[in-house]
Amino acid sequence: MVPSELAAESLSDAEHRTRTGLDPESLRRAVRDHLFYFQGRHPATASVNDCYLAVAYAVRDRLFQHGVQSLDLLLHRPDARIVAYLSAEFLMGPQLAANLVNLGILDAMREAMTAFPHDLDRLIDHEEEPGLGNGGLGRLAACYLDSLATLEVPAIGYGIRYEFGIFNQQIRDGWQVELTDKWLHLGYPWEIARPERAVEVRFGGTTEGYTDADGRYRVRWNAAEIVMGVPHDTPILGYRVKTCNLLRLWRAEAVQSFDFASFNVGEYGRAVEQQVSTETISKVLYPNDASPQGKALRLKQQYFFVSCAIQDMLRSHIRFGGTPDTFHHRWAAQLNDTHPAVAVPELMRLLLDEHGLEWDAAWEVTQKTFGYTNHTLLPEALETWSVDLFGALLPRHLEIVYEINRRLVDGVRRVYPGDEGRVRRMSLIDESGRRSIRMAHLACAGSHAVNGVAALHTDLLKTQVLADWVAMRPDRFHNVTNGVTPRRFMVVSNPGLSGLITAAIGDGWPSRLEALRELERFADDPDFRARWRDVKRENKQRLAAAIEQRTGIVVYPDSLFDVQVKRIHEYKRQHLNVLHLLTLYRRLKADPSLDIVPRTVVFGGKAAPGYFIAKLMIKLVTAVGALVNDDPDVRGRLKVVFFPNFNVKVGQIIYPAADLSEQISTAGQEASGTGNMKFALNGAITIGTLDGANIEIRDEVGPENFFLFGLTADEVRLRKAAGYDPRAVYESNPVLRGVIDLIASGALSPDDPSRFRPLVDGLLWHDPFMVLADFQAYVDCQAQVDALWRDGEAWTRASILNVARMGKFSSDRSIRDYCERIWHVEPVRA
Ligand SMILES: *Cc1c(COP(=O)(O)O)cnc(C)c1O
Repeated sequence: MVPSELAAESLSDAEHRTRTGLDPESLRRAVRDHLFYFQGRHPATASVNDCYLAVAYAVRDRLFQHGVQSLDLLLHRPDARIVAYLSAEFLMGPQLAANLVNLGILDAMREAMTAFPHDLDRLIDHEEEPGLGNGGLGRLAACYLDSLATLEVPAIGYGIRYEFGIFNQQIRDGWQVELTDKWLHLGYPWEIARPERAVEVRFGGTTEGYTDADGRYRVRWNAAEIVMGVPHDTPILGYRVKTCNLLRLWRAEAVQSFDFASFNVGEYGRAVEQQVSTETISKVLYPNDASPQGKALRLKQQYFFVSCAIQDMLRSHIRFGGTPDTFHHRWAAQLNDTHPAVAVPELMRLLLDEHGLEWDAAWEVTQKTFGYTNHTLLPEALETWSVDLFGALLPRHLEIVYEINRRLVDGVRRVYPGDEGRVRRMSLIDESGRRSIRMAHLACAGSHAVNGVAALHTDLLKTQVLADWVAMRPDRFHNVTNGVTPRRFMVVSNPGLSGLITAAIGDGWPSRLEALRELERFADDPDFRARWRDVKRENKQRLAAAIEQRTGIVVYPDSLFDVQVKRIHEYKRQHLNVLHLLTLYRRLKADPSLDIVPRTVVFGGKAAPGYFIAKLMIKLVTAVGALVNDDPDVRGRLKVVFFPNFNVKVGQIIYPAADLSEQISTAGQEASGTGNMKFALNGAITIGTLDGANIEIRDEVGPENFFLFGLTADEVRLRKAAGYDPRAVYESNPVLRGVIDLIASGALSPDDPSRFRPLVDGLLWHDPFMVLADFQAYVDCQAQVDALWRDGEAWTRASILNVARMGKFSSDRSIRDYCERIWHVEPVRA
């Protein structure tokens, strides 16, 4: 049966309505039926997890009902262009509440659940998130899926279904401890496995040339290993629309479960070895943020999901009547960083070797298909793969990369005769030392569009990292400033604020975020301000309760909640925040009667398990907490909290409760940041450097509503060029000397007085992230924060204006930019 006949056979509208009604009574019946018939549980004795699963299945039915409709629509519109978002990470966060909000049935389901032993909020709280990402990059992919569906743009997110996501972080004795993330252990109700759509992925072996029946030279890849990729689909429903897209994640499976030859001679161990090794490919997410691991398994993961995705796209294109040379008419594929860059030679290989296209035709299709998003300027984060490793795993792809490079280098020599320095710089192959493939160059070469993720980042890309590429092809470079979804990060996580906003300006803003500007009218309304403060206070109480429950530390909701949550990294400068904390502490010790603004300083974030200094920074924060929190001289005016296991779910409690958002990276280092946007959308005021999207946030909210400090990216560069001497800064600033000496003295680590020596020495002798250079400016700026906080009305006004002017940072705006400038796709209305 062909799909269009299937569509005609699908359920009638009336049947859908009775099975998947959205009123409380239909929902109650659906949950009961799932419990009873599917899970074999009696509603009266069902556990929290039973109820959670039953609700999730009832919701999923309703998502797939939309999904079937939008897919039907696509089948009838073979001309519609579909976005394929290729990303090694999708940090989706909990699904239940977000799906209820997008379906518009949060209240109906809450009512339906009063008939069961566990209420809806208990179930929402019970849900564990799939941690299939490290941080900002994976979360961005998830926000983009939400916006694509909301804007009714047909899209599929392609990635890896890691069995274990980012580790769970525990804090023991003040140190980070990593625990396996067994996110599947209670069952994951949101996905459906599609084993019938599995594809084969090959590795290793050799290539051989031959002449085909038409007398053309062709290449055959005789692979050494074959792996199956099994897709698992999660429906992605837009907000209050009928479009339901897909997140399609691939799990690696052995082609044959047993090597029967070994099994029959009694070598059971050998028989399962092959299976175990194959299935390792999708076993675990690499926990490194911003510095890739050059491991063979990582390259296998990348090629595995990319090959699955491109084969899936080609197969569907051809099934619906397309031909290989029109692949790009059907698909716009975006490379989320270089992790999927091997898609370029993979599509070339399929078009050349499997579909018989000539090189020039295949190359045109490839370039028109791909766009590449760069996410970082950090040199250590620019991915390279050793030619030896790449060639051993992907021998045919290495040949294709060489041929792409040969043509690239010819082109450079034609445009810049005699400029061999430029040839060396632009080559896909880094010939210095161990020969390696520059994945960012491969991605640039194979894409019709390259973009940075904030205005400053794109400028720095153009003038520094990719300057040679811009010179050759200036029209291919774009900026698309990141955004976040206001559905999850406002409607779902901050119902108090969302309700207040809706009461003031109506309910259109979650999908038209520029409408928040209408809040400006209320910034001077005393009554509105009071309600604004009440909402913030409730959110702070909720966070205070979570802090006490998870750390035992008691904090006061009336204090200023000063928050820095993000991955722990030297460039993000959590240690600068600590230096400020210790400055406040030393002031209080010197004069315990000092009138200071009471602060609760909250940190959260994971450190890569192999990143020694980052882990030491966590220990430093907890050590400062131990010193400060119960000191009678401080008397509750300063509390320091490390909130464990920062993830999306924790973020949904923390962002709404923040007064002050710490965005203090060294200028020029943070590509964009998205945490900065989530904070400001929830009414926090930012203290930040001119880095990433901070610059654009400040432009939007107004400089008077943003606490700016620190060197600019240009000043950082000049200062370094002039020979930056952190030691001289230390010597000349007694306040700084006081806090550095306090850390170095061992007072924070009596059991191991030299514990923090590596951190201190790093700052004094190298300080690559200019922490000491920005210290005084930061402390001075924090004094301005205190001054505004003391004027509660003025603070509230600035908070309201921040929210009112943040409309630009909806991921809907980012996705519109991609659609218009990069993908050239149109919505398909369901
Ligand atoms: C938004 C988010 C990030 C990114 O935060 P930045 O402050 O932009 O680095 C990281 N992790 C999680 C869980 C997030 O939700």
